Amino acid sequence: MFENLQDKLDRAFKVLKGQGNITEINVAETMKEIRKALLDADVNYKTAKTFTDQVKEKALGSNVLTSISPGQLLTKIMNDELAALMGGEATELDLKNNPTIILIAGLNGAGKTTFTGKLALHLKSKGKKPLMVAGDVYRPAAVDQLQVLGEQVGVPVYANKESKDPVAIALEGIAEGKRNNNNVIIVDTAGRLSIDEALMNEISEVKAQTKPHEILFVVDSMTGQDAVNTAKVFNDRLDFTGVVLTKLDGDTRGGAALSIKSVVDKPIKFIGTGEKMEALDVFYPDRMASRILG
Ligand code: GDP
Repeated sequence: MFENLQDKLDRAFKVLKGQGNITEINVAETMKEIRKALLDADVNYKTAKTFTDQVKEKALGSNVLTSISPGQLLTKIMNDELAALMGGEATELDLKNNPTIILIAGLNGAGKTTFTGKLALHLKSKGKKPLMVAGDVYRPAAVDQLQVLGEQVGVPVYANKESKDPVAIALEGIAEGKRNNNNVIIVDTAGRLSIDEALMNEISEVKAQTKPHEILFVVDSMTGQDAVNTAKVFNDRLDFTGVVLTKLDGDTRGGAALSIKSVVDKPIKFIGTGEKMEALDVFYPDRMASRILG
């Protein structure tokens, strides 16, 4: 995960780390290298610039030049700022409603159905009693896929293969969950290959009718800036409550993880780190920052 970015940041820091005495010019040059590393990682330009400007200001403001170990101090500042860039504190799901309704949104192939199964397992292991609703009406295989995942994680699935109406299926699923005392109802929805009006209208309608407490936008982290742009469009229409970044296990660059919070101002709540149902982590910005800086 993020190997390319780690290497580049490491190289940028090497110059400073060894030096007992550093100058403002050294700091400025290191920031330039760091900005380049961020741009190579597919972080958007504005985010990268604001970030390095801030780190530089904090570094000079905290007397990094006269510190005994300037490299270490700068690493600490970078760590704090990277964590802040990715959202600061971890943001938990709002699960206080009974039942809590969670809508899963995103494009085809992002990992929605897989995440629905992973989230059900995660909630079950926390003592919840979830139900999954198979709302991806255009991809018949998605219903089967969710049913297989349901068996695997031991969580029931509501499906209605006869219907092609995503709103009706979502409402039927919620009614079924209420009857069976499920305290979390996770509604998987249909995606499209790319953003189109029909998809946006449909998911907006599902939102309007089901009144979810959480809307999680699922996106493939390997798509970098595309992930960020897609997030922006979905957020403008849906005002989602959190982001799920999938396939971080294959993402060597990290641009989406670093840019998405500053662009859409919504927290990353979970990360997918593999195809298995257990490969889901709550997102902790500070841990991710430490990991990136090695
Ligand atoms: P959907 O169309 O959004 O429902 O996407 P799927 O859930 O069907 O996922 C598409 C593909 O991505 C599948 O082959 C999944 O196994 C894979 N996938 C999903 N999440 C992850 C992840 O975190 N890591 C990896 N490596 N693969 C994932």
